[in-house]
Amino acid sequence: MKITRIALWHVPLTSHETYYMAGGKTCATTSSVILRLDTDTGLSGWGEVCPIPHYLPAYAGGVAPAVAEMAPLLLGADPVGPEALMARLDRHLIGHPYAKSAIDIALWDLTAQAAGLPLFALLGGRAVADMPLYHSLTCVEPGEMARMAREAQGAGMTQFQVKLGASGDWQVDVERLARVREAVGPGPLVYGDWNCGSDTLTASRVGRAVADLDIMLEQPCPTIAECAAVRDATRLPMKLDETAHDISSLLEGARAGCMDAVALKLSKFGGLSATRRARDLCLHLGARMCIEDTWGGDITTAALLHLAAATPASGLMNTCDLAHYVGPALARDTPKRHKGRIAPPEGTGLGIAVDHDRLGPPDLCHD
Ligand SMILES: [Mg+2]
Repeated sequence: MKITRIALWHVPLTSHETYYMAGGKTCATTSSVILRLDTDTGLSGWGEVCPIPHYLPAYAGGVAPAVAEMAPLLLGADPVGPEALMARLDRHLIGHPYAKSAIDIALWDLTAQAAGLPLFALLGGRAVADMPLYHSLTCVEPGEMARMAREAQGAGMTQFQVKLGASGDWQVDVERLARVREAVGPGPLVYGDWNCGSDTLTASRVGRAVADLDIMLEQPCPTIAECAAVRDATRLPMKLDETAHDISSLLEGARAGCMDAVALKLSKFGGLSATRRARDLCLHLGARMCIEDTWGGDITTAALLHLAAATPASGLMNTCDLAHYVGPALARDTPKRHKGRIAPPEGTGLGIAVDHDRLGPPDLCHD
């Protein structure tokens, strides 16, 4: 099989509800880049990446030029066995994991289609029937966040991420955590996420004020050393996200003792190949994983669900149905959440039917 054409689309994805995070970060409409690799066999593979520019060092406008730089290596190459081809791309263009993520997903889609298997079969095999989801609560007034948590709990959700820091008042963050913790009762997992928007003093004050509650903290500060300092000061378990993006940073987080849990996002690491290696390391390190991506629609969601479904339940904390939070839908036969859990698609490859009519003609092609 040979890759004969690369097509790209830029699709604005709009959140059903504007997302507020610390440091003035918001997420309302973001540009998602859809990529399709066509081959001489008639099979096509799909990929997607949807960066949030103020969230991680990645932006949608950077994907097309990076793909153009890599196109000569892709055109004419055999897509089966994505890791060998991704290693060649890594030697040709260092970094740019977000742009490589869309390519890598499309290569895995093609490889699994060629094998006639659902993608999870090639990522370790089906380890679980379905996976627990977390529900992310936008950072608004504490009572409203408690109400949204109860509503999601009524629909079966058992894990709640409480966005913190948007109002710049640490005592309101204490109330956010306390009100959500109380609203969902004992049992569910509740964690407060600053998205790097705090400092060690403020995050430690918040953490110590809720230290008698069953709470985990997530990425309070921009560095692993600061997150470790907050963990030491509060003795609350810690999830790393923004600072955990490659093998070195995972090892650093584990050594610093602040990686009770970690977010493995496909586009941080560079796609399914790189995230699978991170997944296997985290299984060894004993860090509970959230397998997801920055943001995205149906293609990103299908890809991450296949990796999550191939991850042993003992290591998988949760996953995320990103497509649930945004519109428009770009595919049919997509998985839907059921009582707080979700199963991967069952068809071959990514196992979803991308809606060509919705996408229209591509913005850009290489052939
Ligand atoms: Mg996070």
